[in-house]
Amino acid sequence: MYQDRFQYHDYYLVEELLTDEHRLIRETVRAFVKKEVTPIIEDFAQRAEFPRHLLKGLAEVGAFGPYIPVEYGGQGLDQISYGIIMQELERGDSGIRSTASVQSSLVMYPIYTFGSEEQRQKYLPKLATGEFMGAFGLTEPSHGSDPGGMVSHFKDMGDHYVLNGSKMWISNAPFCDIAVVWAKDETGVVRGLIVERGMEGFSTPETHGKWSLRASATGELVFDNVRVPKENLLPNVKGLKGPLSCLNSARYGIAWGALGAALDCYDTALRYAGERIQFGKPIASFQLQQKKLAEMITEITKAQLLVWRLGTLKNENRANPAQISMAKRNNVALALEVARESRQILGGMGITGEYPIMRHMMNLESVVTYEGTHDIHLLITGLDITGINAFV
Ligand SMILES: Cc1cc2nc3c(=O)[nH]c(=O)nc-3n(C[C@H](O)[C@H](O)[C@H](O)COP(=O)(O)OP(=O)(O)OC[C@H]3O[C@@H](n4cnc5c(N)ncnc54)[C@H](O)[C@@H]3O)c2cc1C
Repeated sequence: MYQDRFQYHDYYLVEELLTDEHRLIRETVRAFVKKEVTPIIEDFAQRAEFPRHLLKGLAEVGAFGPYIPVEYGGQGLDQISYGIIMQELERGDSGIRSTASVQSSLVMYPIYTFGSEEQRQKYLPKLATGEFMGAFGLTEPSHGSDPGGMVSHFKDMGDHYVLNGSKMWISNAPFCDIAVVWAKDETGVVRGLIVERGMEGFSTPETHGKWSLRASATGELVFDNVRVPKENLLPNVKGLKGPLSCLNSARYGIAWGALGAALDCYDTALRYAGERIQFGKPIASFQLQQKKLAEMITEITKAQLLVWRLGTLKNENRANPAQISMAKRNNVALALEVARESRQILGGMGITGEYPIMRHMMNLESVVTYEGTHDIHLLITGLDITGINAFV
């Protein structure tokens, strides 16, 4: 059985900037991950299966809608709490964090922010307990980085809408109960619709053969003349700002989350380097290995400060999308780099499932692409600092 020896690393004592409540949340989620996630996740990843039995526990530790108000089933927590939860979950596996990110930021957030009171009452409490699981449909086969070109569309039939089109690369799709789907109305305006499993013409085929996020279920959302009741339209948002504001919330969580994967890789490599003897000495005694470890903890420390500050700004409603892009891009890239260097420190053992590094590394190849690719976030920073759009 896999032995989880994870120790948290906090080189600049960033924990001192947190409240007692933040620390309690961290301990609760960390204990859940240690008991429920790390002992089983490698097997599920190897089998390319999502561990659905974890959903109840995830809901119990507040992973679904932590910042949604208590009256709708959420925890009413602040943004730093949300970040901490995402970091601890991704320390276990990016796929588990992905499920919690989608549920919280891409399904509960839009229903809470753009939904009618009836929609909030109907869906949010059940999403918070995991009784309902949600998916978010934005990406299409021919429109990824450029979602404005989407072709999914719906028609007003008087007493209902008819939705046609398809979405690709959708996390949680194979088992979702509802999906928040972005599609164009007859005038070409992007709107959000809540599509429920069981609606005729709605199917969610699973995507197989992934080398990354293997313990996360990914699939398509296919709409073949789906009859959607009019009350399932999100009334309070029009245009791409709807899905983009959801992505902002999810990207913020990813900036924290990726650090969890980085910390797990660094911690594993540091311990291994101290225990592995070559040429009669621990490999940690060689300068080349120390350089790798020292650079890793330096980058991790910078990233910890970045997300803490971003969380503070977000709590004050002062974080802008470009700041969030910078943190997502930086932290996922550094996590990938830490995973690659850690893998090398473990030598041949680094490629096995006995250690979490290779799984984190492969997962991060999705994380660096979804929710805006590494390139796209750089272009967002470029646009923000120069005022010139280099996307097209
Ligand atoms: C495992 C997984 C889960 C996902 N989950 C979801 C989900 O739940 N819901 C959802 O809606 N989507 C989801 N996605 C989709 C994800 O958001 C897209 O894959 C991502 O936005 C990139 O789109 P694309 O794959 O079509 O790549 P493309 O947009 O085709 O990009 C290909 C390459 O071209 C580059 N590129 C594109 N445009 C430019 C430009 N203007 N300038 C320079 N370079 C450019 C990109 O950076 C990239 O390197 C998921 C993806 C994965 C892999």
